[in-house]
Amino acid sequence: MADLRGGIDLGGTKIQTAIVDAGGELVGQARRPTPTSGGPQDVAEAMAAALREAAAEAGVESGALSGVGVGAPGSADERTGVLSSASNLPGWEGSFPLGETLREALGTEVRIGNDVQVATEAEFQLGAGREFESLLGVFWGTGVGGGLVLDGKPWLGRGAAGEIGHMVVKRGGARCPCGRHGCMEAYAGRKAMEAEARRRHEDGEKTDLFKLMEKHGKPRLTSGIWERALDHGDKLAGELIERAVEALGTGIASAVNLLDPEAVILGGGLGIRFGERLREPLAEEMGKHLFVDERPPAVRVASLGDLGGAIGASLLVSR
Ligand SMILES: [Zn+2]
Repeated sequence: MADLRGGIDLGGTKIQTAIVDAGGELVGQARRPTPTSGGPQDVAEAMAAALREAAAEAGVESGALSGVGVGAPGSADERTGVLSSASNLPGWEGSFPLGETLREALGTEVRIGNDVQVATEAEFQLGAGREFESLLGVFWGTGVGGGLVLDGKPWLGRGAAGEIGHMVVKRGGARCPCGRHGCMEAYAGRKAMEAEARRRHEDGEKTDLFKLMEKHGKPRLTSGIWERALDHGDKLAGELIERAVEALGTGIASAVNLLDPEAVILGGGLGIRFGERLREPLAEEMGKHLFVDERPPAVRVASLGDLGGAIGASLLVSR
């Protein structure tokens, strides 16, 4: 039996699992919705069930895996396996021993890491960042997360590095979902963009964004709805995307000035959907703020797509 590892990407809306062989090839996967009620125990059970389903597809029992890695939102303690403050998950304001609970349920070693950091490491080892030694991952979705690989090694700081979404791009600026003001995420996060669109729409600005949302039966302004609105020439959607790109360019360029990585990898729901289309405008915005402007970093779109998080989580087993 080849050496197989499991990965679980724990998101606010879905749990994606993957079984990966020693060469990084995907041999099984499964996806389940994240429970919206209950508490951490219910989420852990859904995670274990989704992992067993992926293992069955790969023809193994979960206990035969060399280990399972978890990429989780909130504050993940890699040493203890405790996950805290995962406020997008039901009843998860406090701490829960996720690693230990899953170890008992799955019968193998479990390691917990930050979702965005592991997705960045997956792109570094297997995806769009393979040719580089240092990179900054920027995951543009509901919020804006970041991950770092410097000199070939993950940089975790004291556990909370990479929070690029909360770089200040405007002092005293828009209110961020984190409660502070002027963060990059306050302009570029999908959630903040939706709140701004709603506010302006209620103030009388014309937009088809919410009509499109209802027509397609979506509970929120998904990246697909933003894309349709842009394609229809929706003025408000265009303005808000432009505002997001300005904030991203400003924050990313500031991070590049500090760290000088070889590449920036753009992932996340909006990043993957708009990455190619907005790569030029983003590079242009970055260019306004880069201190050394004759050699800007490469900007690439994440290539592992939706599975990057789960594949990245599986890499925690050998880290
Ligand atoms: Zn913030």
